[in-house]
Order: sequence, then C-alpha cells, then structure tokens
Amino acid sequence: MDLKVIPVPAFEDNYIWAIDNGNYAAIVDPGDSRPVFDYLAKNSLTLSAILLTHHHSDHIDGVGDLLRQMPVPVYGPSDEYILWVDHPLAHGEYFVLEHLAIELLVMHVPGHTVGHIAYWFEGDAMSRPRLFCGDTLFSCGCGRLFESAASQKMLYSLDRLAALPGETYVHCSHEYTMSNILFALTCDPRNVALKTWQGRAQYLRDQRSPTLPTTLAQERVTNPFLRSDAPEIVASAQYWAGKLLHSREEVFATIRAWKDVF
Ligand SMILES: [Zn+2]
Repeated sequence: MDLKVIPVPAFEDNYIWAIDNGNYAAIVDPGDSRPVFDYLAKNSLTLSAILLTHHHSDHIDGVGDLLRQMPVPVYGPSDEYILWVDHPLAHGEYFVLEHLAIELLVMHVPGHTVGHIAYWFEGDAMSRPRLFCGDTLFSCGCGRLFESAASQKMLYSLDRLAALPGETYVHCSHEYTMSNILFALTCDPRNVALKTWQGRAQYLRDQRSPTLPTTLAQERVTNPFLRSDAPEIVASAQYWAGKLLHSREEVFATIRAWKDVF
C-alpha cells in the first residue's frame, strides 16, 4: 500500500510526522494533540500507533490526550522514563507496525538526550528509506547537547545515521533549516552545495512549505556537523577556537559550542 509521510506543524517550528496509508496513521513525537486530532479527522484516518524519540515535552505532551480517545500502542526509548510508553525499544530491535505493514529498526542515538532513539524504515518497492530522527539530526544542524559529556556520543550517533543510504529521507522534528544554513555558511562559506540548498530552502519557505524531509546524501555534503573531518570545517573551527584542534571530536565539540552562541 502506498505510504505517505506528512509533517503536521505544531508550536512555533515543530513537525509531528504522520505515517499514513490512507486508512491508518502512526504518529511520531506528538508534542501537542490538537494538530494530530485535526489531521486524523480531516483525512478520515484511524490512529494506529504512537512513536516517541525522546522525553522532551514538545515531543510527548500530546500523548495523554490522544490515548484518552484512541488507546494505541506507544513505542519509545527503553533508556528514558516516559509515562505512556508500553513498548520500550532498544538499539537494534526491529518491530512491525501492523496496520501500516511496515517494519522499523530502532537506532540508539544518544547526545541530545541519553536515551534518544531514531526509527529507520528500510524502504520497499513503493517507498524510499526513511529516518525519523527526532532532535538528533536537523538539516544543516544537529540537536543541542543537553545531557552530560555528550559531544562524543552525539558524534558517534551522527556517524551511525550518516552511514545509512544516501537516498534516505530524513524526517527531523524541527524547521530549523534556514537558521542552520546561516551558521553552516559561516563555517563553510565556499560550499557550493550548501549555497544551492540555501536558495532552494528559501524558495520553499517563501511558499510556506516545509524544507523537510531532507536526504542523507544532501546532509553529508552540506551539514557541518557531518563534516567535522572536512579541511574547511577544521580550519574554521580552529580559527574560532583560536587553537589547533587534534581530533574530529574536538572539531565537532568546537562547532557545536560555536553554534550554541551563534
Ligand atoms: Zn528535544
């Protein structure tokens, strides 16, 4: 069956992703219930599952309301306490969303939070591979590091995601693309692919369209957080830090700290 994956806007800049086969929908990270109820009603869909990537309130606060009206399984990270999760998932597990007839792989991607997980759909004849990565990877950016000693973990998590096939659609949880591109151009000013993406993303925003999903192939050539070994990024990070940096980890931690104050 043909699957659609639709961004349901919430709050200022969140996207709640709906995986929808025309009859049923699974919802990823419903921080608010109202836009989800509206989406389901407008498209005559039955909620079949809720998938959570991490415990932050803008990703989970709609779950209670949805469950009161539509009791469905709630999948989430086994390493974080989230009240409603009745299907805790660990790295490497596969599980099936029955109504949608798709199998998802769970990837542990700590860094933004310690238990953060991502969901990977390998794709099939009807659909390209898809990644639901919460607040780990954004177009031209990555999540903030909120929980102790996280830069090394985040770097490994991003490596894990970047190793997926290039044609993978990346379904991030926030529309941060334009501001992320401004930072990316500051540390990677001669990147032609990045400038091209800036033009296209600006066009999409001017049409009030989402810039997402992005693809992993595009992120590998434009996202400075996936390019901590590129000479241009190393040079910019060293210039900002005012010292030589001796490892990818140091470069990554430096551009993350730079972005925090950008
Ligand atoms: Zn978060």
